[in-house]
Amino acid sequence: MDETQRLAGSPEQFPGGLVRLQELAHNLWWSWHPEARRLFETIDPTLWSLTHHNPVKLLQELKPERLAALSEDAAFVRQYSAVLKSYDEYMGAKGIWFASRYPSLKDCTIAYFSAEFGLHISIPIYSGGLGILAGDHCKEASDLGLPLVGLGFMYPQGYFHQRITPDGWQQSEHEPFNRLASPVHQVLTPSGAPCRVTVAMGSRTVFAIVWRVHVGRVTLFLIDTDVPDNVPGDRELSARLYGGDQEVRLCQEILLGIGGVRVLRALGLSPTVWHANEGHSAFHALERIRELVLAGHTHAEAAELVRHNTVFTTHTPVPAGHDVFPVDLIERYFSGYWQLLGLNREDFLKLGQHPESPEAGFNMTALAIRMSAHLNGVSREHGRVARSMWKSLWPDLPEESVPIRSVTNGIHTPTWIAPEMNHLFSKYLAPDWADRSDDAAVWHRVTDIPDGELWAVRQVMKRKLMSMIRERARAGWMQKRLEASQLLPSGAFLDPEALTIGFARRFATYKRATLFFKDLARLQQLLLDRWRPVQIVFAGKAHPADEPGRYFIHQVYSFCKERGLGGHVAFVEDYDMHVAKFLVPGVDVWLNTPRPPMEASGTSGQKASLNGVPHLSVLDGWWHEGYDGANGWAIPLATDLTDPHAVDAHDAEHLYRILEQDVVPLYYQRDRDGIPRGWIQVIKDAIRTTGPRFCARRMVKEYMELMYALAASPHPASKRPSDS
Ligand SMILES: *Cc1c(COP(=O)(O)O)cnc(C)c1O
Repeated sequence: MDETQRLAGSPEQFPGGLVRLQELAHNLWWSWHPEARRLFETIDPTLWSLTHHNPVKLLQELKPERLAALSEDAAFVRQYSAVLKSYDEYMGAKGIWFASRYPSLKDCTIAYFSAEFGLHISIPIYSGGLGILAGDHCKEASDLGLPLVGLGFMYPQGYFHQRITPDGWQQSEHEPFNRLASPVHQVLTPSGAPCRVTVAMGSRTVFAIVWRVHVGRVTLFLIDTDVPDNVPGDRELSARLYGGDQEVRLCQEILLGIGGVRVLRALGLSPTVWHANEGHSAFHALERIRELVLAGHTHAEAAELVRHNTVFTTHTPVPAGHDVFPVDLIERYFSGYWQLLGLNREDFLKLGQHPESPEAGFNMTALAIRMSAHLNGVSREHGRVARSMWKSLWPDLPEESVPIRSVTNGIHTPTWIAPEMNHLFSKYLAPDWADRSDDAAVWHRVTDIPDGELWAVRQVMKRKLMSMIRERARAGWMQKRLEASQLLPSGAFLDPEALTIGFARRFATYKRATLFFKDLARLQQLLLDRWRPVQIVFAGKAHPADEPGRYFIHQVYSFCKERGLGGHVAFVEDYDMHVAKFLVPGVDVWLNTPRPPMEASGTSGQKASLNGVPHLSVLDGWWHEGYDGANGWAIPLATDLTDPHAVDAHDAEHLYRILEQDVVPLYYQRDRDGIPRGWIQVIKDAIRTTGPRFCARRMVKEYMELMYALAASPHPASKRPSDS
């Protein structure tokens, strides 16, 4: 913990007995272990809330008197020792899943590349679903004991914070990422100097340093170009997530892919398996080919060896989700590089060609697919869509034989379970239910939870959301950030008794946030019913450069201000993991209306179902395989329609009909004890059926069994490939 202590709070501050609090705060293990969260909360509940549950900051801001008092407090010291004991047991555990199942792979390393990682809000290096999936993947890999290391970016300015102006426009605010208040530390070489790598960028050389994050047993390395040796433009290269123009983006991807391999080499790591989470990092394969060619292989041999142990996951059917760089830009940055791979210009450019649009530019997904023998989409349906999208890369194969399989996304259960629900599950499923999250038999016991108790817990979660929303409005008003006209949209006046729908996601237009407002008169009737009122809470950011997405926010915000909708529509600013942890389990129904088949998987509905918030969604992404007729509601596919307006009309009609005829009556149908028995049945079905199937435990095991294990096997043509 040497580096840690130098960076945040000196050890002298910590009374002897509590000296390892710093170590706990600097391993995100604490974030998915309730007893560790409680420990930090006990230290100072107010600071805990003020720091948005950031223990590093909490320890920094804590008064020494308080710490001294705690070290004298026998109950606290006992609590502290118990948490340390579980931490030490976790970190030192032997014989967990990976070790017992793959003893022959005990020396293997899996490198996992991703442009974003969503681990905790104190490390703002994610924007949405892709990043959170990567974060959940790392946490679960740690739980299962996979020898995985993550490779990503330190974005010194993080992703933006969202503010909504009184007239409903999203504004972005960048806040410098305070590394001293985050569980990150700079990676040093054994001699104590900062670990540095260099990457040629066209005619320049860019230097980068590396940061480390402890995610349980998994280590994540983050590349950072904000060092004095770089020219100002290059210092800014990694400043923002998805912040620059195409050239900045290309440079970021060169850094992540090529720089990422160099970071691993500088640290003495030789991964056996290389997994690119989305195409942003696909250049890593080229760098490994370069190494092999340098070691004497021909290009063809090198490419074959690299393909064998490379895994690629594609995440979206949306065209804008795939990076395509203009050829002249690629030439500018790679004209000195392709020779090192044993290629000429034409053959190099072909690596990124989409056969159906060879002129379009250099396609990172096409490159990643060509470079990887193990390919997958992120739900069964998305696998099918991806095979159809990319079939032209296998001109000789029928579509169904295209070797892109699917591994459906899942969520890291301990991260996404609300504390109240966790308590209930520990009581009725099993004390160690979270360690058996992919075991359907454990989940079956949900049926044993008394309806009244489950309903009471649901109400507590809802009230917590309402207080969080009110508190944000109060604080915004007191700090003069909010105007009077924004109090209604903020949700401060929502009714804790009314059926509450949640809709929170990135405001990409294909997610159709405004579909809900298609027929205002009908909606008014639904929302304003005096006996059975309905309300909806929106949240989500639009990419700052996505004008149509920003316009959607503007539209939703005007409905929030609309008197005719009576304060039944609210928008919660600055959606992030922290807000999600209140919003997702705090509403009654989770709404999802993407335009099919654009949603590759989606995971927020999985988080909702886990917490007893049934999913109402278009049959797209994971819901296509998750919906069973009783565990939520499905908007059927308009299979015979092609015109987008007709599809919207069809989907809105079904949405209203489901709300009017199924959701609202069932929710308000109470027995003599005031309990909605039918509704509770849907809740229980949702938890029981989605829990075991859409958890990251099932997902990471599948990655291991279907992808990593094959990629880790020796290549038949080479007994010892020199890069394994
Ligand atoms: C889970 C999550 C997402 C992803 O949700 P989708 O269902 O994929 O849209 C995005 N942002 C946050 C903050 C999340 O927690």
